[in-house]
Amino acid sequence: MDLGRAPARQRRRWRWATVGGLLGVVVLAALWVGFGLLDPPSLAPFAAWRLPTATAPAPAGAQVRVTFLGVATMLVDDGETALLTDGFFTRPGKLATLLGRIAPDPVAIRRALDAAKVHRLAAIFVVHSHYDHALDAPLVAMHTGALLVGSPSTANVARGLGFPEDRFRLVPPNEPMHFGRFTVTMIPSRHFPHGVAMGEIEAPLRPPARASAWKEGGSYSVLIEHPLGRLLVQGSAGWRAGALDGRRADVVALGIGALGTRDATYFDGYYHGVIGAVRPRCVIPIHYDDFTLPLDTDLEPMPSLLDDVPAALRALERRVRSEPGIGMGLLPPLAPVVLFGDGAVTCGPSLGKH
Ligand SMILES: [Zn+2]
Repeated sequence: MDLGRAPARQRRRWRWATVGGLLGVVVLAALWVGFGLLDPPSLAPFAAWRLPTATAPAPAGAQVRVTFLGVATMLVDDGETALLTDGFFTRPGKLATLLGRIAPDPVAIRRALDAAKVHRLAAIFVVHSHYDHALDAPLVAMHTGALLVGSPSTANVARGLGFPEDRFRLVPPNEPMHFGRFTVTMIPSRHFPHGVAMGEIEAPLRPPARASAWKEGGSYSVLIEHPLGRLLVQGSAGWRAGALDGRRADVVALGIGALGTRDATYFDGYYHGVIGAVRPRCVIPIHYDDFTLPLDTDLEPMPSLLDDVPAALRALERRVRSEPGIGMGLLPPLAPVVLFGDGAVTCGPSLGKH
């Protein structure tokens, strides 16, 4: 009998147990940090910015109502003509987006259109061709009879879904398009510089495909003008210096996606390039929601792992407070708000400016 063997085996067992235990602790700590960072931050400190929902029926021709439908999807309706930016409703989950392949979900699209009471649309304007903007636009246009307006990359998203060519219009940059009493101009802009999925979609894009297949394909500011008021939709938190010079908007729907990850210099450049140029009376942050979750009346902001939405909102609030005549507002998701005309909301009641 070898008396030295048993203790040696025991020592090895202890060593493995210690290594295993330590690994377990590390894995648990990583999971804790990971899930903690995936927890959405609270938007409660900004509750006072929430704009009131329109309750009375719209008086004919006297109002322009806007409904925020997540990310940069905005429904604009004057009672006679309805327009939409993007129309992104599928909002695939985190796993499918990161590791799998994604495709438009006709059920989610139908549900969103019903919830927002969208029956007819004159046109859809796609701000750029990333999937969180362009994925569903052709199907939404098919459902609603809308003209689809976008870049050559958006055209390839449409072709991949068999969208009729004669209902697609390539963006005429800086040229006004007319729909009822609306005039819409798509002004070439820049995307937020994260460097992911940039470039063009060169061929018809047939889903399902990796989320990265929806490449940016050029970004636009969408200026929607109506006799009752002017709205600028800035889908991505980037800007092109001088692009908006000479333009005016009463309200800016300002994309703040990933803005909270950048420093004050970047924020100042963005603010100056968009808000400073068009001088609105109201700034409405958009593209703050976690678009891997379904569309809901209570949208959660992007988790801290990916963005710092409260930091962007605080920076915006500080800046707006320092300027006379500009207010802020947050649109309640999936609910119409009177932006222009009879009973129009005033922005920034919490700031006491109006
Ligand atoms: Zn994008």
